[in-house]
Amino acid sequence: MEKEQYLGVSVSPYTYEEIIDDLQRRIAEGLQSTVIAVNPEKVITANRNPVVKELINNSTYQIPDGIGIVLASKMRNGDVRERVTGVDMMGRLLKFAADKGHGVFFYGAKEEVVRTAKEKLEASIPNLRIVGYANGYVEDQQALLEQIRESGAALLFVALGSPRQELWIKDHMAELPNIKVFQGVGGSFDVYSG
Ligand code: UDP
Repeated sequence: MEKEQYLGVSVSPYTYEEIIDDLQRRIAEGLQSTVIAVNPEKVITANRNPVVKELINNSTYQIPDGIGIVLASKMRNGDVRERVTGVDMMGRLLKFAADKGHGVFFYGAKEEVVRTAKEKLEASIPNLRIVGYANGYVEDQQALLEQIRESGAALLFVALGSPRQELWIKDHMAELPNIKVFQGVGGSFDVYSG
């Protein structure tokens, strides 16, 4: 299946299961992957901001997080079959990590929000190992990067708002070789902490 273009912005026509299967192959090959949620608003923003467009198009998976994208694909007989939301993708990735024994790191949101999200998710997903977390207002970036490396996590979820979180991922992924899957998750820690 080819990626689809909406005003020059790529969208991957894959379901949750197809993405997880593909990620598993990429992790086995030692590759790093990035997941970014695309909705009609982001397509508009990307067309005003070339940096954002490049960021989206250079991600590994551009998930169709918005019914607008699903409908647009249907209208052109495209391959997008279902909506793949950022928050549900994160939930699926957490279950995948728990099943495979991969550690997970959370970075972003307010201290209480990220801590509560960690506690609630660990209580609800058997075998989930959230091996570290940091709130989104920490100032010492070098110490943060060291903390993420030392955690041994393989998946990193970043909640700093968009496109800040995606820019942060692009700027730091090479410094975090242990992380194989990066996802910018916007308000998802807030959702899981509620
Ligand atoms: N956030 C953060 N540091 C910042 C700015 C925002 O950790 O400097 C967090 C904020 O606390 C919230 C999350 O980023 O938990 C998502 O923010 P927002 O709702 O603005 O992002 P969106 O989902 O609209 O992209």
